[in-house]
Amino acid sequence: MAVRCKHTFVDDDGNADRYGGAVRCPYCQSMDDKVIDSRMADAGAATRRRRECLACGRRYTTFERVEELQLFVVKRSGVREPFDRTKILDGIRRAAKNRPISEDDLVALAAGVEDEVRELGPEVGSEVVGKAVLDGLRALDPVTYLRFASVYKGFEDLTDFEREVVLLTRQPTDET
Ligand SMILES: [Zn+2]
Repeated sequence: MAVRCKHTFVDDDGNADRYGGAVRCPYCQSMDDKVIDSRMADAGAATRRRRECLACGRRYTTFERVEELQLFVVKRSGVREPFDRTKILDGIRRAAKNRPISEDDLVALAAGVEDEVRELGPEVGSEVVGKAVLDGLRALDPVTYLRFASVYKGFEDLTDFEREVVLLTRQPTDET
């Protein structure tokens, strides 16, 4: 999952900080430091930086996290609620029950849907979210796709289901 930084650190002189943030040394309070090592932490949700103070020479560690912008889903009824990736993952998991799809694939799909929807945010229609899930499932597993579609689209009779099957067979799963 790509994490985009939504903010830019700016130093006292108004310059964007190339190290990703002006930090005060915990020992001498100096604002001058250099980053000597950067690595991912917390499964990619944070960046751990080892820094050396240019004033006193002591070393310390900082953790930097991207603050995620709030994302809202607007239902057909007009009700607005916060985007919830767990809810989407639960729905996909239910549809994928007993299918040969790994948990990793399901998690990746939910994360991909969130990325896609965030691009369009901060407010998206529930049908956009549903379509993103369906697009992902179509490529992953046709049976899971149909199960999810039958719940999501609220199929009312067999005709709907058959129409979906026809649509599915027209679109090869290796399309993407
Ligand atoms: Zn210092």
